[in-house]
Amino acid sequence: MQSNNLKPKASAVVFRFVRKNLWLFGLGLLCSVLNTAFNSLTPQIIRMTVDSVIGSSELPQWIQRTGIAQFAADNTKAMLLLAAVAVLITAILSGVFSFFARLNTAKASESSIKALRDELFGHIQKLPFSWHTAHQTGEIIQRCTSDVEVIRNFISAQMVEVFRISFLIVMTMTIMFTMNVKISLVAVIFVPMVMFYSFFFNSKISKRFMSADVAEGVLSSVVQENLTGVRVVRAFGREQFEIDRFDEKNIAFSELWIRLGHMMTAYWSTGDLIMALQVLCVIAVGTVSAVHGEITLGEFLAFVSYNATLTWPVRSLGKILSEMSKTGVSIERVSYILQSEPEHDPPQALTPPMDGDIVFDHVTFGYENQKPVLDDVSFTIPAGSTFAILGGTGSGKTTLMHLLNRLYDLEDGKGTITIGGVDINQISRAHLRKNVSIVLQEPFLFSRTIGENIGIACESKGREEMMEYVRGAARSACVDEAIENFANGYDTIVGERGVTLSGGQKQRVAIARMLTQNAPVMIFDDSLSAVDAETDAKIRHELKEKMGNTTTILISHRITTLMQADRILVLDNGRVADIGTHEELISRKGIYQDIYQIQMNNADRELLQQVSAGDSTESR
Ligand code: ADP
Repeated sequence: MQSNNLKPKASAVVFRFVRKNLWLFGLGLLCSVLNTAFNSLTPQIIRMTVDSVIGSSELPQWIQRTGIAQFAADNTKAMLLLAAVAVLITAILSGVFSFFARLNTAKASESSIKALRDELFGHIQKLPFSWHTAHQTGEIIQRCTSDVEVIRNFISAQMVEVFRISFLIVMTMTIMFTMNVKISLVAVIFVPMVMFYSFFFNSKISKRFMSADVAEGVLSSVVQENLTGVRVVRAFGREQFEIDRFDEKNIAFSELWIRLGHMMTAYWSTGDLIMALQVLCVIAVGTVSAVHGEITLGEFLAFVSYNATLTWPVRSLGKILSEMSKTGVSIERVSYILQSEPEHDPPQALTPPMDGDIVFDHVTFGYENQKPVLDDVSFTIPAGSTFAILGGTGSGKTTLMHLLNRLYDLEDGKGTITIGGVDINQISRAHLRKNVSIVLQEPFLFSRTIGENIGIACESKGREEMMEYVRGAARSACVDEAIENFANGYDTIVGERGVTLSGGQKQRVAIARMLTQNAPVMIFDDSLSAVDAETDAKIRHELKEKMGNTTTILISHRITTLMQADRILVLDNGRVADIGTHEELISRKGIYQDIYQIQMNNADRELLQQVSAGDSTESR
């Protein structure tokens, strides 16, 4: 998946969700700053206590004015208690602000991430079919889960932390410099060193993180494909092959993480060493200064304390910076989806009646970077007729239907498709798809009840009315008996959480689902292939009765399915080989006659065909 340079920056795409909660983030940051400020008071209280209460230095002027100096001189114990209370109060205030900082940041980040997730999922619904076929499901899932999680971590923890730590460093360094420039210089000199080291490291590991993410996507895709194709794996005894394939990707994935681990270890150990050196230098210079009387004992303790509060945040900033490279990669990957061009209709898109003739006029089409699949195809499907398409595998039958449904669009100058005289490019996609319904050879059923699966198109109606439609449709699709035989009837859950339907049952449920849509154009794309010839004929009879003015398009390899159609198109390698009624086509030499003879004149073959169709109906 490549990003497009002309589009807005990836970070801008993702951070617009943060902007919506900016005031909450601001509140969180303010509380965070106050928490840090109160924390930094403790070393000052310790310094004053050591120097002025235990030692002999004078308390600062502003404290003397309160009369506490006199009190301190008389009551050392009470002063110590007062200092302890002051430390306690600053700790409580710091804790309270820490609580509100976390609370507000959590609210703001969860709300931002929820909005991001919603938009991501909503956007995926609008992306063209071609986008979905061009991207692996496992990888898309990874972008919507792991990558979003990385961004969530950044927004909820790291973003505010970067500001808080920067404030802490500036504030602590300012206090330290006002106390003693020499020791502060020793402490401060290490800060840019650690920062530079982090930046340097950060840029180095960014690429590794990207490869690790890609490898994780590949691994998820292997697992996902294996789980989806579990039947094929078992049927062909490919378990070991699948294990080896997974192992190969798993090794590649692990090796990438091991290399990443090596780099991280080197980074952390070197970082530890630098920070230990810093502490050592500050203590050494501080001790010498204290011995020479340049600083008081209290100041020395405050220095050590401030230096300690600086050590971890500086390290932690390094860690955040290194993780930010991962966040950057995740932001790129998520914004790639958000920036992918969705399907959209022009504002003046039409919603005409869809019960007119369907005309393919000089249609030429090829999938991306491939030779044409359809070559100058022209034909007319009269409104209300039954039109059949016959052709070998890969001859372009499904592609014709993809174009009619606008799952793919024709390029300019490569022909037109019209319904009732209106170019389908002018028609709103939603309107087109609502009116041109399709049943696929391998239909997909949701993990819901059979009733809900069939009634998807009429869910807005009340339950009783919906179930009436559902039962009627199931009867027409000859699947009512099979459904009623299940213990829970129409409430039987299908898919992973429920019963497994046979190929033929699934196809018939999908046909019933299409019937509830009541569209003026219905396409059966090899969708009776797993149904035995007898049921196939029964369903077609039922449909003919029910459909009335519906334009029906049948795609099949089986001549018995097609022969009663008003017109039959024979497609050969993306070109129209012939077109006519069954009688016309069998009367002339050509592909149709050949297939007819193979399928119909050979009784043994027909028998075999019926048996195999019956087998596949029951196959699971
Ligand atoms: P049929 O339905 O007649 O079996 P299709 O229309 O499915 O044939 O496919 C026609 C040709 O287009 C085949 O060579 C197939 O490999 C190719 N094809 C189908 N779908 C895609 C796609 N999404 N991307 C690229 N090529 C495709």
